[in-house]
Amino acid sequence: MDVKRLFPVLGICANLMAFEIDPKENCAIDPLEASLLVQAAKEGMRNAFTSSGKKTDARFGAAVLTTKGNIYYSGQYFSDTLSLTLHAEQAALAHAAAHGEYGIVAIACLGNLPAYQLSGDVIYPCNLCKQLLWESSLRSGLNTEILIIDENEHIIERFSLFSSMNHPWPMPRSSLKEE
Ligand SMILES: [Zn+2]
Repeated sequence: MDVKRLFPVLGICANLMAFEIDPKENCAIDPLEASLLVQAAKEGMRNAFTSSGKKTDARFGAAVLTTKGNIYYSGQYFSDTLSLTLHAEQAALAHAAAHGEYGIVAIACLGNLPAYQLSGDVIYPCNLCKQLLWESSLRSGLNTEILIIDENEHIIERFSLFSSMNHPWPMPRSSLKEE
């Protein structure tokens, strides 16, 4: 594994210094991995469990690349309660965990046209999903790379999870001990 994917040892990470990492330093997955991730996210989108099952439903897809080099994907899993709906990113993380894989190197997010329209043309992971990714990162020590895909399947943004988190909760354990 590329050491640049690791964020500073938690014991040193006693303040927000971790967020000063140059995001480019942490965007380490290669073009082939990125391409495979996009295709997997697309497959997740196709299989999304939506309210009516129609292709015209807003469909989101996400795929994660794990430290073992495997890719797991999912679409959203809809619930009539709405609050129980699993977002594609959440379901992809659970999919990886179901295979005993918890180290998330990168995640790609996309959707179909209705999903882009619903999201304001760009599909970023929502803050709930970023929270889940953040907690995963605290445990794995990985600064997960996030790939944003447009409706033409092009990667339009790549950034690290850390660079996208302001005032996260919880802080790394070492900082809590110092309070
Ligand atoms: Zn979400």
